[in-house]
Amino acid sequence: MDQNRRTFAMQVVGLAAAAAAGIGTAEAAAEHQHEIQMSADGWKLDASTKFRCATCRFWGGMRKISDDKKQVVAVSLGWCNNPASPMYRSMTPADHEMTKAGVWVKWDALS
Ligand code: SF4
Repeated sequence: MDQNRRTFAMQVVGLAAAAAAGIGTAEAAAEHQHEIQMSADGWKLDASTKFRCATCRFWGGMRKISDDKKQVVAVSLGWCNNPASPMYRSMTPADHEMTKAGVWVKWDALS
């Protein structure tokens, strides 16, 4: 699968997850449209990045820390498990940005 098709596929999956989670407004759907840059190994994010699901303690997606510990590699959508989050019990993509102050907490594995 080429890069454009893979990115499109991830956007479709993200929108489907938003719909499955009961997020029905156009605004909410737009919130879930992300430019996910996938490689053969998954979607990569700098491990020091704050306010993104991939580096958050409460994210329940499939992810790992790279061998050099500089990146988080995510390969799925994940549940938000933070009751204080507006996305609680919803599926979010790894690069979802947390905009509510005081909600994102660094993933313990990155400490
Ligand atoms: S939506 Fe916010 S609180 Fe929930 S996992 Fe993502 S960054 Fe963390």
